[in-house]
Amino acid sequence: MSRPLTFRHLFGPGPSNCYPEAIEALGHPVLGHLDPLFLEVLDNTCAGLRQVWGTNNARTLPLSGTGSAGMEAAFVNTVGAGDVAVVAVNGLFGERMCEVARRTGAEVVRVDHEWGQPIDPERVAAAHPNPKVIAAVHAETSTGVRSDIAALGRLKGDALLVTDAVTSIGGLELLADDWGIDVGYAGTQKCLGVAPGLSPFTISDAAFERRVKDPQSWYLDLGLLGGYVGTAGGSQRTYHHTAPVPMIASLQAGLARVLGEGLDAVRARHATAGLALQDGLEEMGLDLFAAEGFRLPSLTTVRVPEGVDSAAVRAYLLKNFSMEIGAGVGQFASSVWRIGMMGPNANNASVVFVLAALKEAIAKV
Ligand SMILES: *Cc1c(COP(=O)(O)O)cnc(C)c1O
Repeated sequence: MSRPLTFRHLFGPGPSNCYPEAIEALGHPVLGHLDPLFLEVLDNTCAGLRQVWGTNNARTLPLSGTGSAGMEAAFVNTVGAGDVAVVAVNGLFGERMCEVARRTGAEVVRVDHEWGQPIDPERVAAAHPNPKVIAAVHAETSTGVRSDIAALGRLKGDALLVTDAVTSIGGLELLADDWGIDVGYAGTQKCLGVAPGLSPFTISDAAFERRVKDPQSWYLDLGLLGGYVGTAGGSQRTYHHTAPVPMIASLQAGLARVLGEGLDAVRARHATAGLALQDGLEEMGLDLFAAEGFRLPSLTTVRVPEGVDSAAVRAYLLKNFSMEIGAGVGQFASSVWRIGMMGPNANNASVVFVLAALKEAIAKV
């Protein structure tokens, strides 16, 4: 017998708790992936994704797979042997981009930054005279830092700008077209408040024209996927792989929830909650990790106080409050906590709850 699952308050780096509308939609009857009723759901979802991305790209779609599948799709479709990819690294996800890009056979020019700091767009843009791709993470979830993608877009030249918006989509301002993002990928389980399983993906027509024609991944080949989502319509659609129908229905419902509240209102809710959490942590005498002025509202990094056992505090929160917060990453694994205020959790009640629970946990362990 399997153990019954219990409710958790998910205040880590993702997944976050989901909007009730998104969970409810998972229980709808499953439809065939070519059923006209489902194609309507898919079209609605793509339209909603264009709004949260801030793009008119026809090829804006929910890729099957989590955010990392989006990352993989971004690189295998844009670079291969003989191409140069400049990658800005200021945390774990920038590092992962380097690894994914390397496996395509591309030459990776890595531009390192101190963890906890934003990327320096000028240094990144100057790293190579003619890269095919310049890539950066908008919201680095490993460190809680926001970088200026618009500035990088102004400096990219002929390169394609690949952007990771996994922790910014639905929580931070994101204007793919205005900022010059050519290829972007995101995730559902962070600020969008939907379960993990899809990667909201967008690629401009110009970038699509310059894509790798026969990428190493058949599954994530955007040329083949175009026959099903994005460009083909109605009866033109052909089978590529079976769409994860319930997840797409769930994403449609989550997007309707977010767009119904209003993108600006949802972003303001994230901003207010994040700031209140950060102020509260400082009032408790704790030190924030991310550089001031570049802190994400959706994900706060805070230093574990001297003499406090990081893992014991997290275990205490889980046991006594059914609350999850994240450990740090890499060399900061036990010296930093990561606290997410994402999706439905981005509100004042969550802030009060997390601060009180954390204060008790630090006192008791
Ligand atoms: C979570 C995350 C990813 C990876 O997404 P998965 O859904 O875990 O595959 C990539 N980039 C960033 C910035 C993330 O926060």
